[in-house]
Amino acid sequence: MKIAIAGAGALGGRFGLYLHNAGNSITFIDRWKANIEAIRKNGLQADLDGKHIVANIPIYTPEEVAERREHFDLIIALTKAPQLSSMFDVLKPIIDENTHILCLMNGLGHEDVLSNYVPMERISLGVTMWTAGMKGPGFLHLIGNGYIQIENLRPEGKDFTLKVIDLFEKAGLCPEYSENVHYSIWRKACINGVVNACCTVLECNMAELGSLKTFEPMMSQIISEFALVAHEEGVDLDQNELHQALVKACEPTEIGRHYPSMYQDLINNHRYTEIDYIDGACARKAKQYGVNTPYCALLTELVHAKEELLIK
Ligand code: NAD
Repeated sequence: MKIAIAGAGALGGRFGLYLHNAGNSITFIDRWKANIEAIRKNGLQADLDGKHIVANIPIYTPEEVAERREHFDLIIALTKAPQLSSMFDVLKPIIDENTHILCLMNGLGHEDVLSNYVPMERISLGVTMWTAGMKGPGFLHLIGNGYIQIENLRPEGKDFTLKVIDLFEKAGLCPEYSENVHYSIWRKACINGVVNACCTVLECNMAELGSLKTFEPMMSQIISEFALVAHEEGVDLDQNELHQALVKACEPTEIGRHYPSMYQDLINNHRYTEIDYIDGACARKAKQYGVNTPYCALLTELVHAKEELLIK
């Protein structure tokens, strides 16, 4: 199976590295110039649980890939959410009737974007508990383990998805076939909708967020807003379980001292966030269903305001 990874950042790099090391044909597609230059010059480097690794994996811009007219059986979408459609717009010439897309990104509604490029039966969605960071262009910082839940959007896609799961299994990525990936996607969006958005607006880490007197009421309101909208989409979130999971994640432990990715993107690196695909998507969908999500709507506006202030 020829696999392309669209978005060779932290997580795209990790999955590309594992799949390459397991003997698969991997091509990275990316727009970040410094990353492309570093990977071409030095290979993809990684500090994997303290061990230094180098892998020679080809990397091209989307324009170069489109020009090469190379066919890929599978394109794994791992851009940041705002970059997804511009990436696939350029990849259109290489997408044919045998191309499948697997989206492992955080956030809601990516299937609506991806179905502009391939039919729903060739799209699968996943949620991953793997994490990844970057020390700099072409250099991954990887610790710990994770797993991936994957489900195809239409029953016709199941055979292909099972083949992908087999490849991921052999690469040590601990995949599992999910019968209800939408639940996991909504659950993760809700957790990120609390933690990422609040820590970014308040400029604090998760433990600091958890220590605030306003944490519980804010969290409960945001959870209930996600639950309302998810219900309209046929997903019934377990609000008590989410409440407990968030309290645990925001305890003053090692994990609690973590600054979520949205904070790192905007506050540290002055990059646009995925807010429109988390709280913003919840608020947008709520309007469509005629339900009220005032906290999600306000958090989205506040994060956008902060983007305006910080990104020049
Ligand atoms: P990332 O920001 O590392 O990479 C995404 C894209 O941005 C890549 O094309 C990358 O080359 C580019 N990029 C990265 N740093 C850049 C910089 N400084 N300047 C310019 N371009 C840069 O994103 P990621 O963490 O790999 O996340 C991809 C998707 O996976 C997102 O939807 C994210 O929410 C999700 N996700 C990430 C993790 C994680 O631990 N990293 C875990 C679960 C889900």
